[in-house]
This record gives sequence, C-alpha cells and structure tokens, in this order.
Amino acid sequence: MSNGIRVTVWNEGVHEKESEAVQKVYPKGMGHQIAQYLEKQSGIQSVHVSEMDHKQQGLTDEILKNTDVMTWWGHTAHHMVDDANVDRVHQRVLDGMGLIVLHSGHFSKIFRKLMGTNCDLKWREIGEKERLWVVDPAHPIVDGIDEYIELPHTEMYGEHFDIPQPDQQVFISWFEGGEVFRSGCCWHRGKGKVFYFRPGHETLPIYYDETILKVIANGVRWAAPSGVATLTRGNAKPLEDVKPSM
Ligand code: ZN
Repeated sequence: MSNGIRVTVWNEGVHEKESEAVQKVYPKGMGHQIAQYLEKQSGIQSVHVSEMDHKQQGLTDEILKNTDVMTWWGHTAHHMVDDANVDRVHQRVLDGMGLIVLHSGHFSKIFRKLMGTNCDLKWREIGEKERLWVVDPAHPIVDGIDEYIELPHTEMYGEHFDIPQPDQQVFISWFEGGEVFRSGCCWHRGKGKVFYFRPGHETLPIYYDETILKVIANGVRWAAPSGVATLTRGNAKPLEDVKPSM
C-alpha cells in the first residue's frame, strides 16, 4: 500500500457488447470509462479493468492478490458469476480488500453474500431528476462534494432497499417521482470495507459526471486497506501471569 492503491475495476461487460444504445454511451465499456478517471487520481497507483469474459472471469488469484480496492458493476449476468469466484472475492474482502459496489451491482452475488439480505429495491426508468443529499458531511467519501449532487436524468431506485442498516450512511437520494433511497452506504466486513454507491446506468452517461467519478475515487481511498496488521483467533495463552482456577 505504500506506493498507492491498486484498483481493479470489475465490469460485467455484457451490455456494451450486445447493445448499440449502450455502445453509443460507453464505446469502450463502462469499466474503462471509470478506470481512465481513477488512473489520474492521487493516491491511486494502478487501475486494472477485469471483465467477465476474461480468464477466470477476471478474478484470478493473481489479480485478487494484487488488488487493494475493487469496484463492481454488473446487471444482466449476475447469475453467471461463478460461486467459487464469489467466495474468493468475499474472502479477500474479509481479509481487507475494499469493495465499491455500483448501481445495479446491488443484485450481485458478492454484494448479497456480504450483506446477508436480498438487496432488492424499487425501480423505474423514465429519466427523472435525482438529488443525492450528503447526510454525513464529515465522511471522507464526500470530501470536496457540495451538500447535494444533482443528476438531471436517472433511473429511479426507491425504498425499501433490503440491506442491513449501514454502519455509515453517506447519501440519501430524492427522486422527482417522490421516492427516496439510501444511495451511499458503508459497511465494515471483517477487515474489509464496503461502499455501495447508487448512480450509474448502462444507457445514461452518469460515469462521465466528474462529481460522480470524484465520489467513486473518494470511495476507493476510504475503502483502501487499513487497520490492525495481525489478528489472532482461536485458543490463546494469557498475556499476563494468570493462575488457572479450573
Ligand atoms: Zn440501471
């Protein structure tokens, strides 16, 4: 970590290959659009883009071992991610790798496994306005962000969002149609940190919005491994001189 954060942007990469409408918005794929921004940000050493049609779905041991923070975008092929790969990403998170789950990644196997709930929500696709309100102004993820972010045309996600109570709630969204949504949520899982961030949709240019990209970069810095170097579990000898009484 001393040389900076090594990021893997995991992008499902199916819509971009199958839909002309999506190709128009993201000709190189959403993963590369996010990666080209992260590459230029301070504190980030390297950015690798993994896609599902890569070797071992872009989740080889070598890649996982060399990833400090992973971002995850998926939508149409969640069920095609191998359970064994999900288990390995899960273990890496518990061991300290940060995970940023984006938009429709709420239904990914890895997010649902980390949350322990179904992670279902309400949605509507009519291109309405969204305001993401900062509700934790001291949080590092909102460093340099105004009190709200306004997106003129978004897909709506509404409550109830079936997640465990976040350890830290960073954003709450308001939508033109009346719904609200917990659109920026943080959890600790083992030694790892998880940030769910709502914005993004395959046919909307959300990942060209500099403020949204800035939040993702802040999220990467927040989720980077930190904390104690060693944890001991199992049967342990006392640190002090204790006379056994049993
Ligand atoms: Zn969407």
